[in-house]
Amino acid sequence: MTRDPRYDILFEPIRIGPHVARNRFFQVPHCNGMGYRDPSALAAMRGMKAEGGWAVVCTEMVEIHHGADVAPYVELRLWSDHDIPMLARIAEKIHEHSSLAGIELCHSGYTANNLWSREVPIAASAMPTGSYFNDPVQARQMDKEDIRNLRRAHRKAALRSREAGFDLVYVYAGHGLGIFQHFLSRATNYRNDEYGGSLENRARLLREVIEDTKDAVGDSCAVPVRIAMHEFQGAAGLEPAEVEDAIAMMAELPDLWDLSLSDWSHDSQTSRFSEEGFQEPYIKGVKKLTTKPVVGVGRYTSPDAMVRVIRRGIMDMIGAARPSIADPFLPKKIEEGRLDDIRECIGCNICITHDFTMTPLRCTQNPSMGEEWRRGWHPEKIRPKEADAHVLIIGAGPAGLEAARALGQRGLQVTIADKASEAGGRVAKECRLPGLSAWGRVRDWRMLQIAKMPNVSLYLESAMTPETIAELGADHVLLTTGAAWLRNGTGRHILSSANIADGADILTPDDLMNGKRPAGRDVVIYDDDHYYMGGVLAELLRKEDYAVTLVTPSATASSFTKASLEQKAIQKRLIGLDVKIEANRGLVGIARDHVILDCVFTGNPSKLAAASTVLVTARAPVDDLFHALAATGIAATRAGDCYGPGTIAAAVHAGRKFAEGFGLAEPDHLDLPFRREVTGLA
Ligand code: ADP
Ligand code: SF4
Repeated sequence: MTRDPRYDILFEPIRIGPHVARNRFFQVPHCNGMGYRDPSALAAMRGMKAEGGWAVVCTEMVEIHHGADVAPYVELRLWSDHDIPMLARIAEKIHEHSSLAGIELCHSGYTANNLWSREVPIAASAMPTGSYFNDPVQARQMDKEDIRNLRRAHRKAALRSREAGFDLVYVYAGHGLGIFQHFLSRATNYRNDEYGGSLENRARLLREVIEDTKDAVGDSCAVPVRIAMHEFQGAAGLEPAEVEDAIAMMAELPDLWDLSLSDWSHDSQTSRFSEEGFQEPYIKGVKKLTTKPVVGVGRYTSPDAMVRVIRRGIMDMIGAARPSIADPFLPKKIEEGRLDDIRECIGCNICITHDFTMTPLRCTQNPSMGEEWRRGWHPEKIRPKEADAHVLIIGAGPAGLEAARALGQRGLQVTIADKASEAGGRVAKECRLPGLSAWGRVRDWRMLQIAKMPNVSLYLESAMTPETIAELGADHVLLTTGAAWLRNGTGRHILSSANIADGADILTPDDLMNGKRPAGRDVVIYDDDHYYMGGVLAELLRKEDYAVTLVTPSATASSFTKASLEQKAIQKRLIGLDVKIEANRGLVGIARDHVILDCVFTGNPSKLAAASTVLVTARAPVDDLFHALAATGIAATRAGDCYGPGTIAAAVHAGRKFAEGFGLAEPDHLDLPFRREVTGLA
């Protein structure tokens, strides 16, 4: 296939300082939970983006000095010459596919807690550090010598970056994480010397460091600036008009302007809260200020939307972090006219949760993300079958669909059966909940792929039993039959079950997703799951005019979503919908007209009136078929939620893992390739 000429513009080369990017696809810096701990895995991941056609591929933020360390988070480090080989491997992998390698140098200012180095953090102004855990650390205000030292450290890091082979060396003033933004913003700069006060003064350090970096490496490296267009703090913080004034003052100084929003939760909004292109209103004024290329982001996965923003003069290059994670081959697929092969990001931020949990990133849509090196998985390729076999898969949820797709790609004969009238399992149901429609892409992409495979057949409305399974006589049976939400209160707060009175109206998320509704108007949603489900169901029922109280043993609603950057937006939405939130309370019992709770600190009991209770607690594997099959002597494998209930990302990964292992002499996961890098001794 060839590409549609409408998209030719996306493949025009663009000059960036001394380099030329071969097209307009720009993988902006993004965190990944691998950093200095997993350098080879990280290099392979970046190399995969280059292979997939991204003309520029960047690192995440790279610490330039031990005096600004962001431990416990695992980012790259360029503290000394010792770090150069690690960085060089990343640049090398990117260059193998003729892409340009970018490095985002970062001094984190007051957002470094220096938990590793134990240095006192330095900042534009003295203040408590920005910290997820509210660490008891404060930053001191930098004096002139500190400023000189910072400039020296940045310059050294730029030289080391060049030595490591990078083509683009960033000056970072974005996401509230880079010190040059802290100087630029009145919200974090209260200085009264020539680095504080007027915009010109607040922009001084940024300008000086751009000049330093150009001077140090500008002959052979491009110097982009990544800048926050909005801090969402009202007039006290940066807003587009003022940032545009700052950009106008330095318009031609850097080689590229890379625009984003601050903080990270505003920049990487989920599909629950924003649409593709959501940053356009904030960045649209920049291009007219400069002749240098402008890069913007906004979860772009549609080539038409990409062409539109370029033609309308909003940006020159399509920046992407998440779309490049979900599909490292997005540019290639557009280039080859294979649009329906694009695995579109669903905007769930599972990837980001792994930066916060300091574990290698993963992706709901792309199970090979983070597995390129350690398991040798490729987003587009998989080894052909060793021998013919017929695999029967029961359950067409994310695990079953991914297993079917990947086994099909290997050339095996696959039959996939589901008792439901539609494919997709939990995804088909969850994508009908408020704000989650994009999640349907997990099913849609796999269905499209399977539809192209003559060796994969899908049968719906086919409830399978040991008898029907035996009749089919497949060589192997894979059960991906999912999990069911519990209705007895078992969760993290109580591991036994709650005291539930006869006749109490109890519902589970499955009930609500299947269309059942509470008997009474006063509903308690008890959320001991802490991810999205409790909050989403509160939204659903409130919009249907139920009076909803969300009870949680956590201090906040949907507390895990802090890691997906959504918690504040969720709580704000629930408050706006008039959902009552009862925090720090666990469930003890349910009567017909009230629930009995206890305080998580004191254990003191309390009562809350409720006609109906929705229990969002734990899930149990649906594995009755597995046990029934075992009794008949038919061997089967379980994968996904029916083996271990987890995220959709985990189910997709489990499906892929089965397909990768199928046919190996010892397909047990312990024997699959799983590499790790062991630190060399000093
Ligand atoms: P996962 O997340 O692990 O993929 P899901 O819950 O999304 O699991 O999907 C499980 C699917 O399995 C559901 O679509 C369900 O209808 C199907 N299923 C469960 N038991 C059977 C069965 N006995 N026969 C056919 N389909 C089944
Ligand atoms: Fe997109 Fe979710 Fe994948 Fe992140 S994990 S890239 S948000 S699909």
